[in-house]
Amino acid sequence: MAAFQFHQFSYNADNYGVLIHDPTTGQTACVDAGDAAAYEAALAEKGWSLTQIWITHHHADHTAGLMKLKEGSGAKVYGPTPTRSPIAGIDEQVKEGDSFSFGGSEVQVLETPGHTLDMLNFYLADQGVVFTGDTLFALGCGRLFEGSPAQMWSSICKLMALPDETIVYCSHEYTEANADFALSVDPDNAALVQRASEVKDLRAANQPTIPTNIGLERATNPFARPQDKAIRSRLGMQGATDEDVFAEIRKLKDNF
Ligand code: ZN
Ligand code: FE
Repeated sequence: MAAFQFHQFSYNADNYGVLIHDPTTGQTACVDAGDAAAYEAALAEKGWSLTQIWITHHHADHTAGLMKLKEGSGAKVYGPTPTRSPIAGIDEQVKEGDSFSFGGSEVQVLETPGHTLDMLNFYLADQGVVFTGDTLFALGCGRLFEGSPAQMWSSICKLMALPDETIVYCSHEYTEANADFALSVDPDNAALVQRASEVKDLRAANQPTIPTNIGLERATNPFARPQDKAIRSRLGMQGATDEDVFAEIRKLKDNF
């Protein structure tokens, strides 16, 4: 099986969409559908026709273009089971432990509630790629609009259980602001200091900092590191649970 091709593009102020193309079968999927025109332009640029749409969660910046993109392409739409906010246009509701076929591959569905209760992430194990929506960001994680810190921490742990080399596509370019915050709680982390400087250079050149990978997040993302002794001592939380340290880091970021 040939490796899949991935094409990331921007829309709105800081959203990323991704196209996934299997050159063997010619099938193409996309993650989310926040802006039909941006997705259609990306498809036209690559000369790919859309066969599947994978929706992460109900927020408008991920779903606003769904009906138009679906009607224009005839693509089959996979997405969450409705919680508070149903999403119009889902053909097949999927949940934790489900998988479905795309091209020559299996897409594994991970539930990662926290940012919203309906959040899904999609994992292509044989390609070593995961799509984390607004759950795990480069050097950050999503705000807790619907879920609890405990839910989000458990979702982050689920992603951190993937192999280090797993490529991570997330839905927003928040990395530079995330780096500033990360340095405030983990200033002596040499890997973080180096990464923050690389991130500044990339953004100054108007380049994306996404995709990232699980190993890099494990080493530098404070939301994946509540076990870390230096972070704990900085927060005065040496004896706390990982979940409580995570919750404190999330609270500090909200007020940063
Ligand atoms: Zn969102
Ligand atoms: Fe979003």
